[in-house]
Amino acid sequence: MTQHAPKATRETVDILVVGGGIAGMIAAAAFGASGFKTLMIDPVPPVTVGDDVGSDLRSTAFLRPARDLFEKIGIWDRLAPHATPLEGLRIVDTVPSDDGPLLRSERQFEGRETADEPFGWNFLNWHMRRALVDILPSIALAETRYGVGFKSMLTRTGSAIVTLSDGTQVEAKLVVAADGRNSAVREAAGIGVSTTRYGQKSLAFTAFHSLPHGNVSTEIYRDGGPFTMVPLADIDGRPASAIVWMNKGPKAIDLLNMDIDAFNAEMTDRSAELYGNMELASQRGVFPIITQVADQLSGQRLALIAEAAHVLPPIGAQGLNTSLNDLAALLELCEANTHDIGNAAMLDTYARTRHRDITARAKAVDLFNRVVRAEDGLLQSVRLLGLKAVHDIKPVRMGVMRAGLGPL
Ligand SMILES: Cc1cc2nc3c(=O)[nH]c(=O)nc-3n(C[C@H](O)[C@H](O)[C@H](O)COP(=O)(O)OP(=O)(O)OC[C@H]3O[C@@H](n4cnc5c(N)ncnc54)[C@H](O)[C@@H]3O)c2cc1C
Repeated sequence: MTQHAPKATRETVDILVVGGGIAGMIAAAAFGASGFKTLMIDPVPPVTVGDDVGSDLRSTAFLRPARDLFEKIGIWDRLAPHATPLEGLRIVDTVPSDDGPLLRSERQFEGRETADEPFGWNFLNWHMRRALVDILPSIALAETRYGVGFKSMLTRTGSAIVTLSDGTQVEAKLVVAADGRNSAVREAAGIGVSTTRYGQKSLAFTAFHSLPHGNVSTEIYRDGGPFTMVPLADIDGRPASAIVWMNKGPKAIDLLNMDIDAFNAEMTDRSAELYGNMELASQRGVFPIITQVADQLSGQRLALIAEAAHVLPPIGAQGLNTSLNDLAALLELCEANTHDIGNAAMLDTYARTRHRDITARAKAVDLFNRVVRAEDGLLQSVRLLGLKAVHDIKPVRMGVMRAGLGPL
């Protein structure tokens, strides 16, 4: 008798989300809650404890459009208790001097100037993952599967057939690539990227400070890049913030390896002591800073979202917020195309509209990053004038805040 190789199992779903980072998890929740049978896959289960190895020590300041999406999906009530509201944004421009950082100027933007609510809500990333892991099982049409990844993909007019790392085949009307900046799905689809490297790295960690933050997020500019303090709830009764500290690469590595007392002293100095003494309250994570935009945001039966589509420097809370704008646009198009989600016209519309917005944001953040990290005296003057103009000219200030850009 002839022996046949066992046939690969094939499952059928409406949407396959590849990648279970924060964007992928929110995508699975969104599509499942909107009535699409959704499978999300990731080889690595999420780390949901701050002190565990591999924990994501960054925080995300979700802006109002992101909150609107959470409300639409019906998960905001369960997320809100974990958030710290951001009522204001304080921008401080400093230059180094022999007596420590010299404050050249400062401005504060108030969230309630544009609406009767905070301008954003801050979550520690590992905490957000934990909340999403709790929420996802309650969404019947959203299945999450860890320990398996994307291996290869064959697309045709009506569907995509994806082979997973365990040999399973999944047939989906739409594949959503949320598998991060080195996206295997993007590569399999032959989509290239444009990448700008700055030679900068960012440290991300949690710190205590002796003075309260008053729910105001603070960005302190100096050459090398911004030092950003995003408010968290008090920890053990002490004021705390999530810190993003951008520097040239070698300096960032020095800071990463510095002993804690020396690190605390540098951090206190770099913060211009605006919130008193600073003290490290977590491990330190380090991230390379790049701008990267995919050449195309869609392929046959495929949409790229989040860092598979774009990576931005951590300025003005643009990264994940832009990702959720991708998701909101894609969700709306799926809801308008329930007869055939993932059809070519729908994906063309997605790619065209999102590419325009992403490119504009990437250009703005890139330009801003070049100006704020400048050592050159002329560019430092531009930074100061720009800050004053954005804040002091009311229509500009309101426009920038309404655009969800923060003051950048
Ligand atoms: C220091 C710093 C601070 C930041 N602060 C903010 C902020 O305040 N606000 C904001 O909006 N953004 C912020 N960002 C950006 C934000 O953190 C990122 O956009 C976001 O974390 C990326 O999420 P993601 O889900 O796209 O990618 P990732 O988190 O990289 O997730 C990709 C997932 O895909 C999985 N994967 C990989 N390969 C495969 C495969 N073959 N098959 C299946 N799955 C696969 C991975 O295991 C991973 O889980 C910040 C970034 C930095 C560096």
